[in-house]
Amino acid sequence: MSVIDELLDLQAQDSIIRDLERQVHDIPKKRKIEKDRLEEIERELQHAKDAVENGERSVAGFQLEIDQQKGQIEKYERQRQEVKSNAEFSALGRQIESCRRVVSDYEERIAKARDHIETAKENIAIVEARYAEESAAAEGYIASLRTELLEAQHRLNEAQAVRDEKARAMDVPEKRRFVGYYDRLRKKYFPVVFRVRGGNACPGCHMVLPPSKMQEAQRNAKLADSPGKMNIVACDYCGRMIFK
Ligand SMILES: [Zn+2]
Repeated sequence: MSVIDELLDLQAQDSIIRDLERQVHDIPKKRKIEKDRLEEIERELQHAKDAVENGERSVAGFQLEIDQQKGQIEKYERQRQEVKSNAEFSALGRQIESCRRVVSDYEERIAKARDHIETAKENIAIVEARYAEESAAAEGYIASLRTELLEAQHRLNEAQAVRDEKARAMDVPEKRRFVGYYDRLRKKYFPVVFRVRGGNACPGCHMVLPPSKMQEAQRNAKLADSPGKMNIVACDYCGRMIFK
């Protein structure tokens, strides 16, 4: 294999490694999205439960008010039995009327609160059913992600070992500078090495290269089996390696 083919081969292996690294990196993110989704439903459920609790607390409070007003009404009625004048009798009658209005107001509020409680309880049932369904599905999905992650990690280790092998084969004095250049640049750009078939633009950054650059690449191609005599031909703009 010429040094050009070896570099392209190493780069192909790095491409496999990058894909696997991306998978290993993305799987925990997918898991997090799934867990967040379930937590969102849990929050919704808690919200509905809180609504029931608050509604029931309001009903109890309103009921207390009603009881107080009713006690007051009884007291006024007893007083009314004992009054001497019509004026006092009417005044107590007005007090009783006012208390009854308060009672009926609270009764309305209780009815409304009970409607809200009913709706919230229906909502709880719906959200609980959805949670049960979604969490069962999520469990299966998260388990499959775990398997996927283990497999990707395993494949990544294997790909890395293959890469080490290829890099070792290139670790000879006349090839080392090519690999060194490639390794430095691949942290910034990927891919780094291009074989230009036609045209005169850099396949990486698409800038047009001078004819002399393409001639140099052409000369290099003829020397591909004697890497000691080859130059590193790189794009003037981005630095990617150009081969013919
Ligand atoms: Zn370029």
